[in-house]
Amino acid sequence: MKIHELTAAETASAIRAKKFSAADAVKESLDRISRHEGDVNACITVMGDSAMSRARDIDDAIARGEDPGVFAGVPYIAKDNFCTKGVRTTCSSHILENWVPTYNASAIDYMNGAGAILMGKANLDEFAMGSSTENSIIGPTKNPRDLGRVPGGSSGGSAAAVAAGYVPIALGSDTGGSVRLPAAFCGIQGLKPSYGEVSRYGIVAYCSALDQVSPLARSVEDLALAMEVLARPDPNDTTCDAYARPKFADALSLKDLMGKRIGMFAGFEAEQMDADLYGALKNAGELCKDAGAIVEPIDLPIAVKYGVATYYVTALADASSKLGCYDGIRYGTRIDGPTLADMYANTRTASFGEEVRRRIILGTCLLTEGFYQNYYGPALKVRTKMAEEFEAVFEKYDAYLLPTAPSMPYPLGAKETDPNRMYLGDVFTVPISLGGLPGINLNMGFTGGGLPLSVQIAGPRYGDMQILGIASVLERMIGRPAPCEPRKLGEVA
Ligand code: GLN
Repeated sequence: MKIHELTAAETASAIRAKKFSAADAVKESLDRISRHEGDVNACITVMGDSAMSRARDIDDAIARGEDPGVFAGVPYIAKDNFCTKGVRTTCSSHILENWVPTYNASAIDYMNGAGAILMGKANLDEFAMGSSTENSIIGPTKNPRDLGRVPGGSSGGSAAAVAAGYVPIALGSDTGGSVRLPAAFCGIQGLKPSYGEVSRYGIVAYCSALDQVSPLARSVEDLALAMEVLARPDPNDTTCDAYARPKFADALSLKDLMGKRIGMFAGFEAEQMDADLYGALKNAGELCKDAGAIVEPIDLPIAVKYGVATYYVTALADASSKLGCYDGIRYGTRIDGPTLADMYANTRTASFGEEVRRRIILGTCLLTEGFYQNYYGPALKVRTKMAEEFEAVFEKYDAYLLPTAPSMPYPLGAKETDPNRMYLGDVFTVPISLGGLPGINLNMGFTGGGLPLSVQIAGPRYGDMQILGIASVLERMIGRPAPCEPRKLGEVA
């Protein structure tokens, strides 16, 4: 196997066993990036020099007999909304185009502390608002499985980097599906942890009530190892729970699904979604039964009917207040004008993209008195009802299966001009976010035409280990996804 085909766990153990060096792993990563980046466009910043010098430090530590950590010498990429000390963090926005943070996000410190090597910062939809990674100052990222299609979003750069074999593991953020959806579209695995598992300190906020740092990889084992590294109490984030985390990698020792009860989501018509993805959901249900689980249909009427509307009302209201700090004074770009108000207006009008401006305006309206009563207040109540609906399900089931996306990755540009169509693509991911629940996107193989199939496994709050176990049993039956040579498939419909 070539270095770029290895998982993070395999890369680290090969480096520790001196089969190859951390410097070799970094060289291979840089080589993949320089070969394919012209087509894929996954990176906003590539950190070749600092990565090479980190690799030499890791190799020296190993030569001295030290163990640099579970991700010893493993190259990784982080979405460009993670603060990185001394390295610009743009959020794909003109307003932060030249902003260089003075500190690292906790997740970056934890990954570095475990021996991983940061290779660069990945493309995203501006401020993580979007589902396709087309709203970006560097232009769209393309899906390595088919360069004519979107990679999903908003962590599309991170997902594409893992699928194209730049790195075995990447960090993204998931507010309403931004890691699960690109993982599905790019044919890899991605976990959104329970809200409160991982510190959000140092990731640029979109909606603090929902944002969660989330790993992407090509194996469930790597997701579990990432959780061991990332999930821990952090005094810098009071929403990050202080409880003692389990040993997530122990989830991998689950042999089968005997005694497990799994709810299979049935609250929609097969015609409402792509037939191949519906087939993948059914197939996942059959595999669970083959592994010994009891699988029964479940309905989540509130989540499905009101999820998208509730999510967008909640997220936009939160975002409009969070993005108030970009005023031309405290951060980033400033465009002057004769008065202070002109300066605010000039700066914000010129420096936010169209989708971000749309959301700030809608979110600001939602928080005005009349709209608050008619929309924001009711959305909070529906969210509570939804949480009750989930709780009732989890009294009977250990996990449930549902689609990650209603459609296959679509051609670039297909939905860019129609925000409503884009929002509806989040129908299966946003309810899980609103419930604060963990969700994994599991690759279910590929169609005959080479496009990725997927399913989502959701669990009760803090049931991350439970769903990692179920995902690992299924992954052993399906096989884990390999990275690809980025290519354009035939004409896309
Ligand atoms: N697509 C959703 C949105 O645009 C989710 C984004 C995310 O999870 N960051 O809000």
